[in-house]
Amino acid sequence: MTKNPPLLTQQEIYEQFKIKYSQYSPDFELLIKAGQVEKLNRLVREKNAVILKHNYMSWDLQCDEVLGIRGDSLELSRKAGETEADIILFLGVKFMAETAKVLNPKKTVLIPSLKAGCSLASSIAGADVRKLKQMFPGIPVVAYVNTDADTKSEVDVCCASGNASKVVQWAMKEWKTNKVIFLPDKFLAQNVAREMGADIFFPNVSADATTTTKEFALRTKHIAPKTPIFIGWEGKCEVHEKFTPEDVDGLRHDFPGVYIMAHPECPPEVVKKVDFAGSTGEMIKNVTSPDVQDRQVAFFTECAMVEILAAQHKNVLQVCSIQKRCPHMAQNNLETVIEALEKMQYKITVPEDLRKKAELPIRRMIAVK
Ligand code: SF4
Repeated sequence: MTKNPPLLTQQEIYEQFKIKYSQYSPDFELLIKAGQVEKLNRLVREKNAVILKHNYMSWDLQCDEVLGIRGDSLELSRKAGETEADIILFLGVKFMAETAKVLNPKKTVLIPSLKAGCSLASSIAGADVRKLKQMFPGIPVVAYVNTDADTKSEVDVCCASGNASKVVQWAMKEWKTNKVIFLPDKFLAQNVAREMGADIFFPNVSADATTTTKEFALRTKHIAPKTPIFIGWEGKCEVHEKFTPEDVDGLRHDFPGVYIMAHPECPPEVVKKVDFAGSTGEMIKNVTSPDVQDRQVAFFTECAMVEILAAQHKNVLQVCSIQKRCPHMAQNNLETVIEALEKMQYKITVPEDLRKKAELPIRRMIAVK
C-alpha cells in the first residue's frame, strides 16, 4: 500500500498562496483560506474522499493546494468511474454529480449545494425526449452531458463539448443515417453542425407531431442526400449566451494581436470570430500551444476558470465580469465544501431504473475518443 504524503500545514499553504494568489485576496484572508484548505484536506484524508473539481471553480478550490482532481466534464466523468475512494465530493453542478453516481453507484456522491443546477439541464426532461423520438423515429438522440439523469435515460448517447462532433459521427455511422437529434444546447448544436457542414432544424415542440414532421420534410426536401441534418433544441447556457460578436471586436480593438478562445456554448456568431473554440480542458491545454506563445490570451467562458490561468500564465487577460460567473458553479466555496464533508451533505441519489438506462449513453460518450 502506498503511503500518503504528509498534508500541508496552514502556514505552508499560506506561503504558497502569498506567492501565487496575492492579487485575489488581502493577506489576512489568504491566511484564513489557508486554514480552511488545511481543514478540508484533513477531512478528505480522514473520510477517504476524492474531490473532483470542475475547471469553473474559483482559484481557492481549483488550486493545487486543495487535494483533488481538476478537469472538464468529460475528464471528470472518466475519473468518477475509476475512483476507489469511498466518497466522491463533486465541485461542480448537480448533473455532474449525478453522472458520477450513475457511473459509480456504490460510492457516496456529495455536492456542496442542491442549488447548483444548470440552465441547459433544466431546459429539457425525459418526457420531451420521448416526444421527439415519436416525431422523428429511428433517428439517434445525442444529449450533451449537461442534462439530468431523467433526460439521459431516454437518449442513445451523451457527448461533451470536447467530443461532440466525434459522437455525432459515431451515432450517424452506427444508425446508418445522416440525421441526428442533438439536445439540448442550441448554440453547441449550431457550432457542431457548422463544423460538419450540416443543416439544422429546430422543431416547434408546441405544435402537433404531424405538423412538425411535415415541416421537417419540407425543410429537408432539397438538401443533398448525404448532407448531415441536425434536429436541435432551444436550450441555452445562461452564461455563454451573454457573449456577443461585439465583445470580440471590442477586445481586438483594445488589445491588438490578442488570441481569443471561446467555449462552443457561445453563440455561433461569436465562435466564428474567435481564434479557437473548445471545451475548458482543450482551451487550458491550448494556452501553451505554439499558436499562442507569448500573445495575450482572452477566454470567452465562465470567468472563474481564468483566475487560476492568469495566476499561472502572465499573458492571460482577466476578462471577467459578475455577469459571466455561473450562479450555479458559484454555490461551491470553501465554506460549503467543508460543510459537505463534515455533515456528509448533499447526497446524490438516482433511482436504479433511471440509473441503469442513463449508464449506457454515458459509457458510450466516454468510449468515443
Ligand atoms: S456555465 Fe452554463 S452550462 Fe455550465 S453549469 Fe453554468 S449554466 Fe450550466
